[in-house]
Amino acid sequence: MTDTAPVVIVGGGHNGLVCAAYLARAGRRVIVLEAADQVGGAAVTREFAPGFRVSSGAHLLYALDPVVVRDLKLASHGLGFARSGLCTVSLGAGEPLVLNGTEVLAGEVSAADRAAFGEYVARQRRFGALLARQRGRIPARLGAGFSVVRLFALRANNRTTENPAPMLLDLLRLGRADVRELLRTGTMPIFDLLDDRLANPQLKGALALDGVLGAKLGPRSGQSFFTSLQRAGAYALPRGGMGTVTGALAVAARAAGADIRVSSPVARFAVRGDRVAGVVLESGEEIAASAVVSNADPKTTFLQLLGARHLDAEFARRLLNFRSLGCAAKLHLALDALPDFRGVPADRVGERLIVAPDLAYVESAFNPAKYREFSPAPVLEITIPSLHDPGLAPRGKHVLSAVVQYAPYDLAAGWESGRHALEKATLDVLARYAPAIRERVIAAQLLTPVDLEREFRITGGHWHHGELALDQYMMLRPVPGAARYAAPIGGLFLCGAGSHPGGGVMGSAGRNAARVVLGEVRG
Ligand SMILES: Cc1cc2nc3c(=O)[nH]c(=O)nc-3n(C[C@H](O)[C@H](O)[C@H](O)COP(=O)(O)OP(=O)(O)OC[C@H]3O[C@@H](n4cnc5c(N)ncnc54)[C@H](O)[C@@H]3O)c2cc1C
Repeated sequence: MTDTAPVVIVGGGHNGLVCAAYLARAGRRVIVLEAADQVGGAAVTREFAPGFRVSSGAHLLYALDPVVVRDLKLASHGLGFARSGLCTVSLGAGEPLVLNGTEVLAGEVSAADRAAFGEYVARQRRFGALLARQRGRIPARLGAGFSVVRLFALRANNRTTENPAPMLLDLLRLGRADVRELLRTGTMPIFDLLDDRLANPQLKGALALDGVLGAKLGPRSGQSFFTSLQRAGAYALPRGGMGTVTGALAVAARAAGADIRVSSPVARFAVRGDRVAGVVLESGEEIAASAVVSNADPKTTFLQLLGARHLDAEFARRLLNFRSLGCAAKLHLALDALPDFRGVPADRVGERLIVAPDLAYVESAFNPAKYREFSPAPVLEITIPSLHDPGLAPRGKHVLSAVVQYAPYDLAAGWESGRHALEKATLDVLARYAPAIRERVIAAQLLTPVDLEREFRITGGHWHHGELALDQYMMLRPVPGAARYAAPIGGLFLCGAGSHPGGGVMGSAGRNAARVVLGEVRG
């Protein structure tokens, strides 16, 4: 295969588009093949009832890489915001708690808890910033010949992506007290940490949510504090929903010369000798490629599109053990008017509303998931984006979007029967805080993890393409042997959420992968 053949990107999710834009800007010929009839993957805006549009998967932006926004000039390609800096409003039995990320703005919280909250979030932000700095780096290679002397010699030669020196320097910059605290808390259940620092049950419940959302973890699970560090950012609503982000990325990629084709599902990779040399579409068309970059999840990429026969047995075993069963569902409601949320002032209803009233509630909601059952009283993260972005719904009407946790992919009774019961349970919980909500509902759509798998072609319907835990993080993501974007077979690269730094609408995996494909960094 010659280098004049295009780079083919399988999947037009946000990471595939970011990768395409960077490669095209560097002068590569790029073809993006997206199976769905629109680009965006799990970051799209769709109509779910006549006149009602919603962000179908991701609904809040909190981690988009500012380097990607700047490099790809997303603002001039259509990215705008309906609202930035959303507060979190925790719904409970009494007065709602309002948090703005650094302070308690409203709620019956003692002075001691307000101070402890300030310290907790400040430290969480410092740790979160440390992780955020790693997002734009290719995970270090920990191989033979690793030594501290070599590590700093390489740093001096500016070969920083070959080794963990930058990460270690970041750690040292944290200072002794924070490093000790990070080591102590990094694998801790968020439950213990919050219980140790705070007294207010509602405050603890609200903070615990960040440690479990999108994950198959409860507050008492190890690593739930680590998970919370991934969300230490400010929440924003893109104008027009998440589809505006991926729409702007597609414009940027096309402006740089990328050819983006929708409704083009890839059936398999074409392997010639010991290399991936192109792709074969479901239509039968074959496209030769100088490199194939997969935005699909790791199991789809290796087990379905490549085929286990091209993999080393140990690598295939690791992939099979990559934990990738989703545990969150998504509910969309078309509302004929805005319902009252008890105790929530009108100017706060458009914030990020959560139902996680205390630690016990969240842990109890998780318990059934361990036994392949959904929660009868789920934890919720709710947005009503039409309050800031009226174009999403007909005049005077609204859309409500809620992440519903916990809903295990492998529900014992199956989702055919489970779907209606979970929808009812979710509406029951919503009605505790917005008693008239049922009368306001014109149409509802519940996407279970099985629906998410089908809609977005994500094996297991997991929003990170796989659990984001320490054993599946950085040089271990998705599995050793493919953690630096290059696959263990020539000509194939990964660029999706199953790679470092994981899921969430960031674009970092796409940008990092492009650097490896371009040879700026060894994969
Ligand atoms: C319910 C839910 C809620 C979420 N909430 C948030 C949130 O609020 N904020 C946030 O930041 N993140 C959120 N996320 C996570 C976020 O949406 C994902 O992590 C992110 O979109 C992953 O992007 P990606 O480009 O890596 O992969 P994807 O978006 O999964 O894109 C992969 C693309 O590859 C395509 N593809 C797969 N196989 C093939 C094939 N054979 N041929 C051609 N194309 C193929 C797919 O169709 C898809 O378009 C949420 C996710 C879900 C599901």
